[in-house]
Amino acid sequence: MTVSAPGTPAALPTLSIVAPATGALLAEVPAASPAEVAAALERAQRAQPAWEALGPRARGQALRRLARAIRDDERLTDTLVAETGKPRYEAVGMEIFYTLELTRYYTGRAGRRALREEQRRPFLFAIKRARVRRLPHGVVGVIGPWNWPLLNNYADCVAPLMAGNAVLLKPSEATPLTSLRVAELWKELGLPEGVFQVLPGRGEVGQALCDRCDMIFFTGSVKTGRQVGARCGERMIPVVLELGGKSPMIVLGDADLPRAARAAVWSGFANSGQVCIRTERVLVEESVAERFTALCAAEVKALRQGAGGVAAGDQDIDVGAITFAPQIDNAEKQIGDAVARGARVAAGGDGRRPGSGRFFAPTLLADVSPDMLVAREETFGPVLPILRVRDAEEALRLVNESPTGLSGSVWSADVARARALAQRIVAGSVCINDVLMNYFVVEAPLGGVKASGLGVRHGPEALRQFCRLQTIVEDQPLSGRLSPLIQKQLMFPYRPRTLRVLRWFMRRVY
Ligand code: NDP
Repeated sequence: MTVSAPGTPAALPTLSIVAPATGALLAEVPAASPAEVAAALERAQRAQPAWEALGPRARGQALRRLARAIRDDERLTDTLVAETGKPRYEAVGMEIFYTLELTRYYTGRAGRRALREEQRRPFLFAIKRARVRRLPHGVVGVIGPWNWPLLNNYADCVAPLMAGNAVLLKPSEATPLTSLRVAELWKELGLPEGVFQVLPGRGEVGQALCDRCDMIFFTGSVKTGRQVGARCGERMIPVVLELGGKSPMIVLGDADLPRAARAAVWSGFANSGQVCIRTERVLVEESVAERFTALCAAEVKALRQGAGGVAAGDQDIDVGAITFAPQIDNAEKQIGDAVARGARVAAGGDGRRPGSGRFFAPTLLADVSPDMLVAREETFGPVLPILRVRDAEEALRLVNESPTGLSGSVWSADVARARALAQRIVAGSVCINDVLMNYFVVEAPLGGVKASGLGVRHGPEALRQFCRLQTIVEDQPLSGRLSPLIQKQLMFPYRPRTLRVLRWFMRRVY
C-alpha cells in the first residue's frame, strides 16, 4: 500500500493531530497536495485491473488477512483510542469487532454470490439469454468522518475493494492516524500496491476525489453531503451518501422500562454521543414518563468518564472524551436553549471539564418540548433529551416531521404493536426493543431516507452499489438457430403480415 508521500512541508497545510483526552500533540500529518491526489489516482488506475482480475475469492483472502492484522495490531488500537479519546472497549468492541464481522460477511459466500454473473431467460424472446455482469466502477473515493476512524473509514472500503475497485480513502482531518496505520499494515502484508491508498487532508482533498474518482462513498454531515452529491451529479458518477439524523426512541407505556432506560443511556452516550444512529431523542408515553426518566437519570449518574479504560492499569470508564471540539459548543448551545425554554437537567449538567482533556458531562434533559433545538437538530454529543407524548400517534407525528430519517427504535412488550409502529416510521432502519443493533446486522441494508442520504451500507444491496452493470444478450445454444429467421421477420422491410401476427400476439398475451 502506498501512503501518500508528504509534499514540500513549507508549501502544504499540515494537520496537527491532538489527543482529545489529554490535549497532547500526537502527530503532524502533511495534507496531500493536488499533485499527490492526481498521482495516487494514477497509481490506483494502474493497479485496479490486476486487482479485479484476481477474482472475489482471492480478493476476499487478502481482505481477511488485513482484517486479522488489524485485530492483532496493538499499535492500531492505541492509535484509535488516542486520536478519538474513546474508551478502549469501544475501539475494540465496536470498531475492530465490526471491521472483522463486515469482512467475514463480504468475503464469504454471501459476498461472492452477490457479485456473481447471473443468467436471465427472457419470457418472450426465449431463443435469447441475457448475462448480467457486475463489474467494478474503477476507483472509488471513500470520504470518512472523525467519529469512527476505522468503522466509517477503512471498514467502508471493504465492500468497494471486494467488488474489485481500487480505493482512495480520505479520512477526516481530525483523525487520519488510524487510516494511515491501516495503510502501513496493507504494505507490511505485501498486498497489491496502489489498490488501497490513504490521502490525509481537509475538505479540498475530499473535493478532489469527487472531481476525479469513478464513484464516491461519503459519510458525514447533511451539509457536506449535499455538496458532494451535487458535484457527483454534475459529473454523472454514482454516489452513496450516509449522513446525519435525529433518530428517535419511542417508549410505549407497556415497555420493560429498566431495559429501555439502559438502552437509551447506552445509545445516547456511547462514543460520547458521537454516533450517527444514536438515540438523539426519546419520546416516552406520559403514563410512564416520570419513572422512565428517573431510571435513565440513575443510569447517567452511574457513568464513569475518563481516558482509556479496560486495559491493564487503566481506570475502567464508560464515557470518553469529545473527539471533535465543535461538538462541545453544540452541546452547550442546545442545553442552554432547552433550559431557557423550560427543560430540566435530570442528570449531569456540569458542562465541560476544566483542564487539557476535552470532556463534557453526559447530560440528561427532561421536560423537553418539540420546538427546542435539542429536539429538532442533530446533537451528535453527550446530551439526551426526553419528550413526553400523549400516545404512540403523537410520537409518530413528531418523529415523521423530521427532515431526516436515519434510524430509530420502538419499545413495547407487545412486539406486534411495536412492529406496526416501526413500519410507519419514515427511516432507513428501526430496531424493536434494541438500539444500534441495526449497525451490526451486516446482512441487511442500512441507510438513510429524506436528508439522511442516498444508498446503503451492508447486505448484498450495498456490495452491488460498487458495481456497474453490463448485460450481454446472446442466442441460446439450440433455439438460437432460429434467430436469423426471426430477425428477417422483424427487421426491414416491414411487412403487413408481421404486424398482423404481432397484433394477434399482443391481444392474446397481454
Ligand atoms: P463532515 O461532513 O464535516 O465531514 C465528513 C468528511 O467530508 C470529512 O472527511 C471532511 O473532511 C470531508 N469534507 C469536508 N468538506 C468536503 C467537501 N467539500 N467535499 C468532500 N469532502 C469534504 O462530517 P463530520 O466529519 O463532522 O461527521 C459528522 C457527521 O457525520 C454527523 O452529521 C453524523 O451524523 C454523520 N455520520 C453519519 C453516519 C451514517 O452512517 N449515516 C455515520 C457516521 C457519521 P475534514 O474532516 O477534513 O473537514
